[in-house]
Amino acid sequence: MSVISALNINDSFTKSLPADPLSDNTRRQVKNACYSYVQPKKTAAPKLISVAKEVAQLIGISEEEWGSKAFLDIVTGNELLTGSQPYAMCYGGHQFGHWAGQLGDGRAINLAEVLHNGQRWAMQLKGAGPTPYSRSADGLAVLRSSIREYLCSEAMFHLGVPTTRALSLSLSGDEVLRDMMYNGNSAYEKGAIVCRVAPSFIRFGNFEILASRKDETTLQALLDYTIQTFYPELGAPAPSTYIAFFKEIVRRTMDMVLHWQRVGFVHGVMNTDNFSILGLTIDYGPYGWLEGYDPDWTPNTTDRQNRRYRFGNQVNVAYWNLIQLANALMPIIQDAPALEAILQESQKGFGPAYFQMMRQKLGLERTLPEDVELITSLFERLHLCETDMTIFFRNLNKVKKDATSDILDPIELAFYDLEAAKEHHWNAWKEWMDTYLRRLQLEALSDADRAAFMNQHNPKYVLRNYMAQLAIDAADKGDYQLIEELLELGRTPYAENPAMEHWFAKRPEWARHKVGCSMLSCSS
Ligand code: AMP
Ligand code: MG
Repeated sequence: MSVISALNINDSFTKSLPADPLSDNTRRQVKNACYSYVQPKKTAAPKLISVAKEVAQLIGISEEEWGSKAFLDIVTGNELLTGSQPYAMCYGGHQFGHWAGQLGDGRAINLAEVLHNGQRWAMQLKGAGPTPYSRSADGLAVLRSSIREYLCSEAMFHLGVPTTRALSLSLSGDEVLRDMMYNGNSAYEKGAIVCRVAPSFIRFGNFEILASRKDETTLQALLDYTIQTFYPELGAPAPSTYIAFFKEIVRRTMDMVLHWQRVGFVHGVMNTDNFSILGLTIDYGPYGWLEGYDPDWTPNTTDRQNRRYRFGNQVNVAYWNLIQLANALMPIIQDAPALEAILQESQKGFGPAYFQMMRQKLGLERTLPEDVELITSLFERLHLCETDMTIFFRNLNKVKKDATSDILDPIELAFYDLEAAKEHHWNAWKEWMDTYLRRLQLEALSDADRAAFMNQHNPKYVLRNYMAQLAIDAADKGDYQLIEELLELGRTPYAENPAMEHWFAKRPEWARHKVGCSMLSCSS
């Protein structure tokens, strides 16, 4: 047992919900239970690579402790916190549109929930060894995918996108065999463990598995627990509270996806087991950031054929997932018209919310009907030739509303092939910019105030796919400095940061078709 003095363990999930009666770590179907107790695997040579200090503070770990051996032992699963009873959750899920049965925490182990400053935080290790839910896999994670999860979850938080957090990134010292592109080329990679932190890691799939097994007693217990613990403001569990709960999870989920569309994030694996019951972005696998604006793009090669989880389909898929959640809750709520009405109302409201978000990106405070055409015609143009989404919107803050000449200068940097854009599409762009300038005339804000307003909605820095890959390549050689630099950069993504200006750049050509930059599989 090990001690991190200030951590105040207060388990609620395991205290409130039924456990798997078996305690051996064999792969199995787990019925009438929400989780199985399981011990993390000891690792060969654990080494701490990075700590997100603000996350440590969030859960009550002090500065003296986060570099200690005790801390390392805990965040790699080599020692347990006093009082910790680790467990893996049971859940199912719809993967790529098909019911997949029991999935569960196959390589995630929850250490404990802690209370700090009145907030509940679950600590979970990803890659700490097999569990009863590991099916045919090893329960481990490799360094490259762990770096991607660690950096991206923190970057997303600072971008203002609801997300799980990451406390630490460590090497396990073990070797992990992976077929990175599923093409028969297996190789050993460095094993790693991320300690994730969120109020809860419950997913849509936790409800779906119970509904699929017609275990209404446990389903009701899980629903009541979720509401009482994470949605107390909705009131005590009762039919009207269940409806209010569904309405709130619909609201939160669609708010999360709206943020994804705002910043150009493509999740890559929007299976229902990867959808949080708190509306948090969860499970950073083959995700990617839009560089050239392309609604058909998905980074996930496993989804290459159907592109189900492409950027432009994320909103539809989120609604599809919410329907699966509604189906799972039906045995308890038993009011299909009410659930359908909530979904329909949300869908009706999503369009206006989307255009409102886009108005903010364009620096428009007023709501005018012609904005819909302005925004729609902008997206048609962004797609004409390769145009960097982040640079385009950020540099739009340089537009002067009284400009009469060189009106396209502010956005030139966004084009991957500026000469081709000028040759083939400049008239279309001029036409759009003229309309935009006329529209700006109807706004009260000065150029400077509008720029400041836009900068709150258009990040300067996102974790471009090649940036994470550079950090991975360096870390593979034992150099972790870039991980720290990108973690730091991600802390202030909306601020001008002259020392970091080199990251405000289009994807370099070498990264266009490189594995890890534009192509990622689920292998991690
Ligand atoms: P994902 O697509 O990463 O969300 O994973 C889908 C399911 O596969 C989840 O139940 C995971 O726990 C499980 N899984 C993924 N990778 C592994 C692994 N290396 N070992 C055990 N289970 C895994
Ligand atoms: Mg998952």
